[in-house]
Amino acid sequence: MNIRTRLTLLFVLLVALIMLLFTGSVYYFYDQFRQQEFQQRLEERAFTTIQLREDVGEIPRTDLSFMIDEQITIYNDQGLVLYSKGTQRPRFPVSPGLLRRITTRQPQYLRQGDIEAVGVRSQNSRGQSFVIFVSANDRYGFSKLDRLRDLLVVGWLLSLIIAGIAGYLFATDALRPVAELIAQVNSISATNIHERLRVGRQRDELAALARTFNALLSRLEVAFVTQKSFVSHASHELRTPLTVMMGQIEVTRLQPRTTPDYEAALDGLLDEVQNMIRLVNGLLELAQANADAVMLRYQPVRIDELLWQAQSQMTQKKPSYQIDIDFENLPDQEEDLVIMGEESLLQTALQNLLENGCKYSTDEQVSVRIAFEPGEIHLTISDHGQGIPPGDIQHIFEPFFRSENVLTIRGHGIGLALTRRIIDLHQGRIEVESALNKGTTFRISLPTQTNAALRQSALHLTNETHSDNSLDIH
Ligand code: ADP
Repeated sequence: MNIRTRLTLLFVLLVALIMLLFTGSVYYFYDQFRQQEFQQRLEERAFTTIQLREDVGEIPRTDLSFMIDEQITIYNDQGLVLYSKGTQRPRFPVSPGLLRRITTRQPQYLRQGDIEAVGVRSQNSRGQSFVIFVSANDRYGFSKLDRLRDLLVVGWLLSLIIAGIAGYLFATDALRPVAELIAQVNSISATNIHERLRVGRQRDELAALARTFNALLSRLEVAFVTQKSFVSHASHELRTPLTVMMGQIEVTRLQPRTTPDYEAALDGLLDEVQNMIRLVNGLLELAQANADAVMLRYQPVRIDELLWQAQSQMTQKKPSYQIDIDFENLPDQEEDLVIMGEESLLQTALQNLLENGCKYSTDEQVSVRIAFEPGEIHLTISDHGQGIPPGDIQHIFEPFFRSENVLTIRGHGIGLALTRRIIDLHQGRIEVESALNKGTTFRISLPTQTNAALRQSALHLTNETHSDNSLDIH
């Protein structure tokens, strides 16, 4: 059931209940009023009959009836009928108990179907007391009551029809902005993701919803554009070595070659294939690091061991690289050397920075300084290489970005994007400082094992608070 139908039905139900309460009370109070009025008339009739009997002695049976189906019966204290007027025998069984209950102050009211009766007690001048029962049919009163009931029922039904129409119009009007919002959202797709919903000047919940949706669209647009440029960069990076390889194969095949020529050509191809493997591995690692952080297996890792290992792997790969490691201070407790992390990812990040430092310096030298403070480990990786142009510093962590001054040196521009993602996953920070032709320094701060646990629980708390607030409409 859609909201409009639900709102209309609710509105009708509400009006139906209120009107039912109102018409019911009108009917009930009118019926009470009629009953009291008729009772009063019956009492008056009883007293005039007594008065007549007192004054005249005996009431002629032809005495005029004042009311419809009127019956008057007078009893003495012993329950004997002294006088009776009316065609039928007494309508109400009069027991001695009932007679006793009727006093001069307290008349009794009885009802049987449409016939109502009142019994009153009276005393004559000789001290004799009587009980007079007067019963009659309040036909006029009942017919007025029936008429009122019919009017109330018709009024009630009419009010329901009006409430139904009004509720439908009201719900349609109230939901019109929602329908417009739905139409606008439906018109946005991948081809026009830059478009935004009209917020309007209102400050209501729907405007807040439109603003929230626009913010979501902005985030999606950034992700979408980044994804698109990532795919086009990746294809370009993969196509370049493939084109080179194809060219080499075609040139080699132009004429018969000697074995050393073939060997040289194969070496060139091998070099390109290795280059492609490096790129594909880098892309895979970036995809893995971008996957949900929960999937990663964090374990305690000693930072000193990690560094020695990175140094030995780098120098094994390129013996000309020189990596100096310098401990500024050593922590008092061994646990201050330990961070919670995914060892292979941390290795990748460190090796990227060490390789860059060596690769972009003519002396192929990098110095690493490691400092400890309670709860945090600081790594400083510096080189005396060609540096990064000041305008490029803000872009170097973007995937595939490479500065103009390093284009002659092999690389794909994904190492630093991957490194930053890895550091983020470990709740760390990475900063860079560089001077052109003087050198570059990367600073990394990582929380130690104990601190990381604290930060993680704080992060959970913030996330929970955020998710709690996310349905609030301001
Ligand atoms: P790659 O080194 O494969 O080009 P990275 O993502 O590791 O990719 O680095 C991105 C860019 O940042 C490099 O192309 C280079 O312009 C710059 N860069 C990174 N580290 C250094 C460094 N130590 N010295 C000079 N430039 C650097």
